[in-house]
Amino acid sequence: MAKKKVIVSLEGAVKTDEGLSYKGVIMEPVVEQCEGCERVVSVEEAKYCPTYAQPATKWAHGVCNFATHVRAEVDKTGKVKVNPLKASKRAARGR
Ligand code: SF4
Repeated sequence: MAKKKVIVSLEGAVKTDEGLSYKGVIMEPVVEQCEGCERVVSVEEAKYCPTYAQPATKWAHGVCNFATHVRAEVDKTGKVKVNPLKASKRAARGR
């Protein structure tokens, strides 16, 4: 079975006065919660997410559903917990 490929490229992105422009969209830098995600790409010492232009907004509404390093799980009491994914689980997820 073919592996899912995580897009980790910002090829063609250009620096503008407003910020990093990628396919006509201004990219905002990643936030603290993105640390460890495989999608993070470094461009000139700043880190961006090719999947989501505004990472802060993505995390403002809960756990990012594109994240490769954590997953939201609902525990027995109904509370949402953020669980880090182990490397083996991350590898299996790509299958
Ligand atoms: S996919 Fe989500 S967690 Fe990963 S870098 Fe992008 S916004 Fe951050």
